[in-house]
Amino acid sequence: MLNSKFLNRNVNTIFIMLGNECNLNCKYCLQHPLVEHPISHEINPDIYDFIEEVCTELSDGNKLTLQFFGGEPLLFWDNIKKIVVETKKRKLPVEYSLMTNGRLITQEMVDFFNKHEFWVCVSWDGFNVKQTRGFDAFAPGSKQRKLLLQIEHLGVSAVLSSYAYPINICDAFQMIENAYFPIHNHHLYMNVDEIMDTGGIPQDLTNFDYDRLYKEVALLANEYLEERKNGDVPADKYARNVYIHDRYSRLRWFYTNKENPGEYTNITCCCGNGYTTYNLGLDGTLYPCHNTSEKAGSIYDSYIDYLNNIIKTDTTKERISVCKNCPVVAFCCGGCKLIPKDAREKTYCKLKKTVFMPILEAVQEMGRELVENNGC
Ligand code: SF4
Ligand code: SF4
Ligand code: SF4
Repeated sequence: MLNSKFLNRNVNTIFIMLGNECNLNCKYCLQHPLVEHPISHEINPDIYDFIEEVCTELSDGNKLTLQFFGGEPLLFWDNIKKIVVETKKRKLPVEYSLMTNGRLITQEMVDFFNKHEFWVCVSWDGFNVKQTRGFDAFAPGSKQRKLLLQIEHLGVSAVLSSYAYPINICDAFQMIENAYFPIHNHHLYMNVDEIMDTGGIPQDLTNFDYDRLYKEVALLANEYLEERKNGDVPADKYARNVYIHDRYSRLRWFYTNKENPGEYTNITCCCGNGYTTYNLGLDGTLYPCHNTSEKAGSIYDSYIDYLNNIIKTDTTKERISVCKNCPVVAFCCGGCKLIPKDAREKTYCKLKKTVFMPILEAVQEMGRELVENNGC
């Protein structure tokens, strides 16, 4: 692939926004308050040229991730196949991934995903998933569970809410890992996001026992640091270890990165949506985030016009003075640009602080012990 020498756009991911319809009605769905109208289901062939052009700017050896996204992407199965066939035909350096609720999974889909080395992530909140999503993709004995476990590169992603506390989620993930590992001889990918309250989700989801939440994370963090000291992660604690390890890695990166170690200076959103990640509708519309139907431009715009629109709606810069003094900024990184100020003040920041402070404190405590033991 040709690499441009100067002013590279450096886009590493394109969310392919297939449509915002869904076959579930999850209580906390972020798209419910953010999506105002349906988006196109018709593929404009120019999007292939656009994807190809983005690929020409990849650094040597890097691949562009095409992330198929909905609503529920499996509702748009024919378009997924068409896009894979065309990008394969063009021999583009891309890899595919998809986020699904798993309800529509079939054997044909599993075989297709495995053939094209898809990363498939299933949204699943663990034992109480029926209370948050109304559907359990890993229900014991279900056909969905059997099919999903066959996927070569499988992940699970949960939303932490008052129906799904960290230990509960980790234990549920561990149960899936125990079934998955013997089949594939590699681990399940795992992710946990804190619930995003844009201001309109049902109160029972954010009605946290903050004390319990803090204590659970503290216990997991201490367990993790002990395992690091001993260099041993028991197989039955794998999910618990991953939960803290992901957050510990963020903390470590924040304090050791070369550009601004230990300093928060972001004026654009940390998730990179609109900047290093494009959100592309099938008709060529570009969006600031894949969870909204508000447009930022199109593939036919000049890059500077597009970027201007993205920056205009990115609220990250307005919060820099608050976020840079926040004790958990290393983990939260200024938060989501779509969360309005009042919702942020009401629940968002409190939740982030409750989840991340115990990890920070456990690491600080370990640092203190190390210094004392070395006699410094
Ligand atoms: S599966 Fe995803 S898109 Fe569908 S309702 Fe649930 S959170 Fe929203
Ligand atoms: S928790 Fe709130 S104040 Fe702290 S970094 Fe995140 S958004 Fe900023
Ligand atoms: S702007 Fe970023 S953090 Fe916010 S919903 Fe979109 S992807 Fe998530």
